[in-house]
Amino acid sequence: MTELDLLLMGPPGAGKGTQGRLLGEALGVPWVSSGDLLRHAVEDGSALGEEARGFMSRGDLVPDRVIVGLMSRRLQEPDARGGFIADGYPRTVPQADALAAALDALGRRLTAALAILLPDDEVVDRLSGRRTCPRCGRVYHVEHEPPVRAEHCDADGACLIQREDDSAETIRRRVAVYHKDSEPLIAYYGERGLLREVDGIGPPEVVAERLHAAAASSA
Ligand code: ADP
Ligand code: AMP
Repeated sequence: MTELDLLLMGPPGAGKGTQGRLLGEALGVPWVSSGDLLRHAVEDGSALGEEARGFMSRGDLVPDRVIVGLMSRRLQEPDARGGFIADGYPRTVPQADALAAALDALGRRLTAALAILLPDDEVVDRLSGRRTCPRCGRVYHVEHEPPVRAEHCDADGACLIQREDDSAETIRRRVAVYHKDSEPLIAYYGERGLLREVDGIGPPEVVAERLHAAAASSA
């Protein structure tokens, strides 16, 4: 069996979470968001969460050693045996090297790195209107993707929240960090023949079709 091991990359607000959920459902593999895993660790009050908290609220990346162990363990859980969609991981070159080594040890190879392209000014609009379900991680936008019942998740009814790091100042910091630390991964996966770039502008269903086509052509 060939696993479908996919990455979703792109700046904060590109639509990784929105598309990860849709693509995961369509392809039958789990959508694994590194940001969600870290937020749950923070809520649980675990030592790892305590260490990550400050970095996250400032809009900085958490140290590689913290996230690599967490994601490597998660991607080896039984539900990911047939593949996964990793959203927001890797975000640095050392993380990408660690992921390649972890997959290699399992006799697996990345299928494709799907990069959603979005200009910086769109990022600010998307993140400042984002609302998130604290229970299932589903994301909404007050104008572009409102929930059916105001401020409540369509899937589980939980009260939506505005993420602490979706403030104007922290958004600017996260965009700068993306360009400095994560954008080099575009070239990294390009050199390895794994990069598929997709335009992130347009309705989510249209972006989903583009990603689906890019994933299908790589499988
Ligand atoms: P990321 O996971 O890359 O940070 P999200 O999926 O959380 O991005 O999306 C960021 C915000 O943009 C959310 O409020 C989401 O509802 C909205 N959004 C996502 N995709 C689109 C789209 N194609 N058009 C307009 N808004 C979108
Ligand atoms: P996200 O939910 O993807 O927007 O991530 C929220 C925050 O979690 C980021 O701003 C980082 O502080 C942290 N984070 C998520 N994924 C990673 C990663 N792969 N490496 C380092 N930090 C991460």
